[in-house]
Amino acid sequence: MIAVTEQEYWLDGLRVFTHADWLSRFPGLVQGITARVAELDFGPSAEDLTSDGWQQLQAATGIRRVARCRQVQGADVVLCDGRQHSGVHVVGEADALVTAGEGLLLGVTVADCVPVFLVDPERRALGLAHAGWRGIAAGVVEATLARMKELGADVASMYAHLGPAICGQCYEVGPEVIRALGASPARTGRVDLRAHVAQSSLTAGVAPERVTVSSGCTRCDSDNFYSYRRGDRNRRMCAFLGWS
Ligand SMILES: [Zn+2]
Repeated sequence: MIAVTEQEYWLDGLRVFTHADWLSRFPGLVQGITARVAELDFGPSAEDLTSDGWQQLQAATGIRRVARCRQVQGADVVLCDGRQHSGVHVVGEADALVTAGEGLLLGVTVADCVPVFLVDPERRALGLAHAGWRGIAAGVVEATLARMKELGADVASMYAHLGPAICGQCYEVGPEVIRALGASPARTGRVDLRAHVAQSSLTAGVAPERVTVSSGCTRCDSDNFYSYRRGDRNRRMCAFLGWS
Protein backbone atom coordinates (compact mmCIF):
# COMPACT_ATOMS: atom_id res chain seq x y z
CA MET A 1 0.00 0.00 0.00
CA ILE A 2 1.56 3.24 -1.16
CA ALA A 3 0.60 6.82 -0.33
CA VAL A 4 0.34 9.13 -3.32
CA THR A 5 -0.44 12.79 -3.74
CA GLU A 6 -2.69 13.43 -6.73
CA GLN A 7 -1.51 15.94 -9.26
CA GLU A 8 -3.63 19.03 -9.82
CA TYR A 9 -4.22 20.03 -13.39
CA TRP A 10 -6.71 21.76 -15.61
CA LEU A 11 -8.71 19.54 -17.89
CA ASP A 12 -10.21 21.89 -20.46
CA GLY A 13 -11.25 24.41 -17.82
CA LEU A 14 -12.07 21.90 -15.08
CA ARG A 15 -9.77 21.75 -12.06
CA VAL A 16 -9.13 18.08 -11.27
CA PHE A 17 -6.77 15.90 -9.29
CA THR A 18 -5.34 12.84 -10.96
CA HIS A 19 -3.13 9.85 -10.28
CA ALA A 20 -0.27 11.00 -12.52
CA ASP A 21 1.60 7.72 -12.31
CA TRP A 22 -1.46 5.83 -13.61
CA LEU A 23 -1.92 8.22 -16.52
CA SER A 24 1.65 7.72 -17.69
CA ARG A 25 1.51 3.98 -17.06
CA PHE A 26 -1.85 3.24 -18.71
CA PRO A 27 -2.15 4.97 -22.10
CA GLY A 28 -5.70 6.02 -22.91
CA LEU A 29 -6.85 6.07 -19.29
CA VAL A 30 -8.92 9.05 -18.14
CA GLN A 31 -8.93 9.21 -14.34
CA GLY A 32 -9.42 11.80 -11.67
CA ILE A 33 -11.65 13.68 -9.29
CA THR A 34 -12.99 17.17 -9.68
CA ALA A 35 -11.79 19.76 -7.19
CA ARG A 36 -14.01 22.00 -5.08
CA VAL A 37 -15.38 24.57 -7.52
CA ALA A 38 -18.30 26.67 -6.38
CA GLU A 39 -19.92 27.01 -9.77
CA LEU A 40 -19.69 23.31 -10.65
CA ASP A 41 -22.69 21.28 -9.56
CA PHE A 42 -22.41 17.56 -8.86
CA GLY A 43 -25.07 17.74 -6.18
CA PRO A 44 -26.58 14.66 -4.60
CA SER A 45 -29.77 14.67 -6.62
CA ALA A 46 -29.72 11.81 -9.12
CA GLU A 47 -32.54 13.45 -11.04
CA ASP A 48 -30.34 16.38 -11.83
CA LEU A 49 -28.99 14.69 -14.93
CA THR A 50 -28.26 17.67 -16.99
CA SER A 51 -26.55 19.65 -14.26
CA ASP A 52 -23.66 21.72 -15.44
CA GLY A 53 -21.09 19.54 -13.73
CA TRP A 54 -21.86 16.39 -15.66
CA GLN A 55 -22.10 18.23 -18.96
CA GLN A 56 -18.82 20.02 -18.32
CA LEU A 57 -17.09 16.80 -17.32
CA GLN A 58 -18.25 15.11 -20.49
CA ALA A 59 -17.05 18.01 -22.60
CA ALA A 60 -13.73 18.30 -20.79
CA THR A 61 -12.83 14.63 -21.12
CA GLY A 62 -14.08 14.41 -24.68
CA ILE A 63 -15.78 11.09 -23.89
CA ARG A 64 -19.24 10.99 -25.44
CA ARG A 65 -20.96 8.64 -23.02
CA VAL A 66 -21.01 9.07 -19.27
CA ALA A 67 -22.53 6.51 -16.89
CA ARG A 68 -23.53 7.35 -13.34
CA CYS A 69 -25.84 5.71 -10.83
CA ARG A 70 -28.40 6.71 -8.25
CA GLN A 71 -26.18 6.17 -5.20
CA VAL A 72 -27.81 4.44 -2.26
CA GLN A 73 -24.91 3.41 0.04
CA GLY A 74 -25.28 -0.26 -0.90
CA ALA A 75 -23.24 -2.95 -2.63
CA ASP A 76 -24.95 -3.25 -6.02
CA VAL A 77 -22.76 -2.96 -9.11
CA VAL A 78 -23.88 -2.09 -12.63
CA LEU A 79 -22.11 -3.43 -15.70
CA CYS A 80 -21.95 -0.71 -18.37
CA ASP A 81 -21.41 -1.96 -21.88
CA GLY A 82 -20.91 1.41 -23.50
CA ARG A 83 -23.66 0.88 -26.04
CA GLN A 84 -25.80 3.75 -24.81
CA HIS A 85 -26.11 6.74 -27.06
CA SER A 86 -24.09 9.79 -26.22
CA GLY A 87 -24.90 11.83 -23.15
CA VAL A 88 -25.07 11.37 -19.40
CA HIS A 89 -26.96 8.24 -18.32
CA VAL A 90 -28.22 7.07 -14.95
CA VAL A 91 -27.70 3.33 -15.31
CA GLY A 92 -29.37 2.16 -12.12
CA GLU A 93 -29.62 2.30 -8.37
CA ALA A 94 -26.16 1.23 -7.25
CA ASP A 95 -22.86 2.41 -5.82
CA ALA A 96 -20.41 0.94 -8.29
CA LEU A 97 -19.94 0.74 -12.05
CA VAL A 98 -17.76 -1.58 -14.11
CA THR A 99 -16.93 -1.71 -17.80
CA ALA A 100 -14.50 -3.17 -20.28
CA GLY A 101 -15.64 -0.78 -22.97
CA GLU A 102 -13.92 2.20 -24.50
CA GLY A 103 -15.46 5.60 -25.10
CA LEU A 104 -17.39 5.42 -21.85
CA LEU A 105 -16.73 7.42 -18.70
CA LEU A 106 -17.85 6.07 -15.31
CA GLY A 107 -18.66 8.64 -12.63
CA VAL A 108 -19.54 8.59 -8.93
CA THR A 109 -20.01 11.52 -6.58
CA VAL A 110 -18.34 11.79 -3.18
CA ALA A 111 -17.81 14.18 -0.28
CA ASP A 112 -15.99 12.20 2.48
CA CYS A 113 -16.85 8.70 1.17
CA VAL A 114 -14.05 6.87 -0.65
CA PRO A 115 -13.84 6.92 -4.45
CA VAL A 116 -12.38 3.50 -5.29
CA PHE A 117 -10.68 3.29 -8.69
CA LEU A 118 -9.89 -0.20 -10.05
CA VAL A 119 -7.97 -0.91 -13.25
CA ASP A 120 -6.90 -4.13 -14.93
CA PRO A 121 -4.76 -2.66 -17.72
CA GLU A 122 -4.22 -6.04 -19.40
CA ARG A 123 -7.91 -6.95 -19.74
CA ARG A 124 -8.92 -3.29 -20.10
CA ALA A 125 -11.44 -3.68 -17.30
CA LEU A 126 -12.37 -0.78 -15.04
CA GLY A 127 -14.32 -0.45 -11.81
CA LEU A 128 -15.37 2.66 -9.90
CA ALA A 129 -17.10 2.52 -6.53
CA HIS A 130 -18.50 4.98 -4.02
CA ALA A 131 -17.63 3.48 -0.64
CA GLY A 132 -18.98 4.94 2.59
CA TRP A 133 -19.22 2.94 5.78
CA ARG A 134 -22.54 1.38 4.83
CA GLY A 135 -21.28 0.33 1.42
CA ILE A 136 -18.04 -1.03 2.84
CA ALA A 137 -19.97 -3.01 5.47
CA ALA A 138 -22.30 -4.32 2.74
CA GLY A 139 -19.32 -5.46 0.65
CA VAL A 140 -19.27 -2.96 -2.23
CA VAL A 141 -15.52 -3.37 -2.76
CA GLU A 142 -15.71 -7.16 -2.95
CA ALA A 143 -18.77 -6.97 -5.21
CA THR A 144 -17.04 -4.58 -7.62
CA LEU A 145 -13.95 -6.79 -7.84
CA ALA A 146 -16.16 -9.86 -8.41
CA ARG A 147 -18.03 -8.12 -11.23
CA MET A 148 -14.74 -7.13 -12.85
CA LYS A 149 -13.65 -10.76 -12.76
CA GLU A 150 -16.81 -11.64 -14.70
CA LEU A 151 -15.52 -9.26 -17.36
CA GLY A 152 -12.31 -11.27 -17.53
CA ALA A 153 -10.27 -9.15 -15.14
CA ASP A 154 -7.62 -10.85 -13.06
CA VAL A 155 -6.81 -9.57 -9.57
CA ALA A 156 -3.17 -10.45 -10.22
CA SER A 157 -2.95 -7.71 -12.83
CA MET A 158 -5.23 -5.25 -11.06
CA TYR A 159 -4.41 -1.84 -9.59
CA ALA A 160 -6.47 -0.08 -6.93
CA HIS A 161 -6.44 3.58 -5.95
CA LEU A 162 -8.38 5.05 -3.02
CA GLY A 163 -8.90 8.72 -3.76
CA PRO A 164 -9.47 11.77 -1.55
CA ALA A 165 -11.79 10.93 1.38
CA ILE A 166 -12.21 11.76 5.03
CA CYS A 167 -9.08 10.69 6.93
CA GLY A 168 -8.83 8.45 9.96
CA GLN A 169 -8.18 11.39 12.28
CA CYS A 170 -11.23 13.32 11.12
CA TYR A 171 -13.81 10.54 10.96
CA GLU A 172 -15.25 10.13 14.42
CA VAL A 173 -18.05 7.60 14.51
CA GLY A 174 -20.50 5.96 16.85
CA PRO A 175 -20.69 2.34 17.92
CA GLU A 176 -23.02 1.35 15.07
CA VAL A 177 -20.31 2.19 12.53
CA ILE A 178 -17.62 0.43 14.54
CA ARG A 179 -19.85 -2.64 14.78
CA ALA A 180 -20.81 -2.60 11.09
CA LEU A 181 -17.17 -2.48 10.04
CA GLY A 182 -16.17 -5.22 12.45
CA ALA A 183 -13.63 -2.94 14.12
CA SER A 184 -12.69 -2.90 17.79
CA PRO A 185 -15.57 -3.06 20.27
CA ALA A 186 -15.00 0.47 21.57
CA ARG A 187 -18.22 2.41 21.94
CA THR A 188 -17.00 5.33 19.89
CA GLY A 189 -13.85 6.11 18.04
CA ARG A 190 -12.27 7.02 14.82
CA VAL A 191 -12.39 5.01 11.63
CA ASP A 192 -10.14 5.14 8.58
CA LEU A 193 -12.48 4.16 5.74
CA ARG A 194 -9.63 3.84 3.27
CA ALA A 195 -7.82 1.38 5.51
CA HIS A 196 -10.94 -0.81 5.37
CA VAL A 197 -11.16 -0.52 1.58
CA ALA A 198 -7.45 -1.31 1.25
CA GLN A 199 -7.86 -4.37 3.43
CA SER A 200 -10.77 -5.60 1.31
CA SER A 201 -8.67 -5.16 -1.85
CA LEU A 202 -5.71 -7.02 -0.36
CA THR A 203 -7.91 -9.83 0.93
CA ALA A 204 -9.38 -10.19 -2.57
CA GLY A 205 -5.88 -10.68 -3.93
CA VAL A 206 -4.75 -7.27 -5.21
CA ALA A 207 -0.98 -7.00 -4.71
CA PRO A 208 0.01 -4.55 -1.91
CA GLU A 209 2.42 -2.66 -4.19
CA ARG A 210 -0.49 -2.00 -6.56
CA VAL A 211 -2.75 -0.44 -3.94
CA THR A 212 -2.29 3.32 -3.64
CA VAL A 213 -3.98 5.67 -1.18
CA SER A 214 -4.45 9.40 -1.69
CA SER A 215 -2.87 11.65 0.91
CA GLY A 216 -5.84 14.02 0.49
CA CYS A 217 -8.40 14.39 3.28
CA THR A 218 -11.70 15.94 2.21
CA ARG A 219 -12.39 17.34 5.68
CA CYS A 220 -8.89 18.71 6.39
CA ASP A 221 -8.47 20.31 2.97
CA SER A 222 -11.27 22.82 2.51
CA ASP A 223 -9.43 24.61 -0.32
CA ASN A 224 -9.65 21.63 -2.61
CA PHE A 225 -12.50 19.37 -1.50
CA TYR A 226 -16.09 19.28 -0.34
CA SER A 227 -16.79 17.50 2.95
CA TYR A 228 -20.19 16.42 4.21
CA ARG A 229 -18.84 16.35 7.75
CA ARG A 230 -17.51 19.90 7.43
CA GLY A 231 -20.95 21.06 6.35
CA ASP A 232 -21.14 20.74 2.57
CA ARG A 233 -24.57 19.11 2.50
CA ASN A 234 -25.42 19.70 -1.14
CA ARG A 235 -22.07 19.69 -2.84
CA ARG A 236 -20.08 16.76 -4.18
CA MET A 237 -16.93 16.07 -6.14
CA CYS A 238 -17.13 13.75 -9.11
CA ALA A 239 -14.69 10.86 -9.42
CA PHE A 240 -14.34 9.59 -12.98
CA LEU A 241 -12.69 6.70 -14.77
CA GLY A 242 -12.71 5.56 -18.38
CA TRP A 243 -10.79 4.66 -21.50
CA SER A 244 -10.77 7.44 -24.05
ZN1 LIG B 1 -8.57 14.76 7.89
